[in-house]
Amino acid sequence: MVTVYLALGSNLGERQVYMQRAVQEMAALGCTERIAPLYESAPYGERAQPAFLNSALGLATSLTPQALLNGLKTIEQKLGRKARRRWGPREIDLDIIFFGQEMVQEAGLTIPHYDYRRRRFVLQPLADIAPDFIAPDTRLPLWRLLADCPDTTPLKPLQNNWMTDDAQL
Ligand code: ADP
Ligand code: MG
Repeated sequence: MVTVYLALGSNLGERQVYMQRAVQEMAALGCTERIAPLYESAPYGERAQPAFLNSALGLATSLTPQALLNGLKTIEQKLGRKARRRWGPREIDLDIIFFGQEMVQEAGLTIPHYDYRRRRFVLQPLADIAPDFIAPDTRLPLWRLLADCPDTTPLKPLQNNWMTDDAQL
């Protein structure tokens, strides 16, 4: 078993419902250990699109990195993700940020995620659930990477218990 850290995002339709269903579907891939608070962020990259909900998870899994990626893609498809454009709007986006201390460089799979250090909407929720996790590429803890993050895109904390509260955003 290894603890992996995943980033979740949604900016189309019933965003919180997509996020909640994605976390429920994770049961097929491992055991969810930590769930970060829910944030809302202005879109990154392509600016002219709806705001995102973002969060992160710690998941204990015995899958390989490639099998985990395939499982996440299956969940994305099951939840009806249609938009395929990179950085464009999507019902649900599930990215592998860290796979324990493993570094993976394969066709279609890069871990740690290639851009995580520049994205506050990724680092903030991860630092909430695992501030002392040491990133295998920089050997720095997440709290430090967050403090050094140059991204100034506004990030609004919305809810802590978003899997159990039924407030719809
Ligand atoms: P993005 O998340 O960059 O906006 P997509 O979700 O459409 O874009 O992903 C594009 C491809 O990125 C996926 O098909 C996947 O093969 C690849 N990829 C590479 N590394 C990772 C990773 N660490 N986590 C998730 N997908 C990854
Ligand atoms: Mg993705």
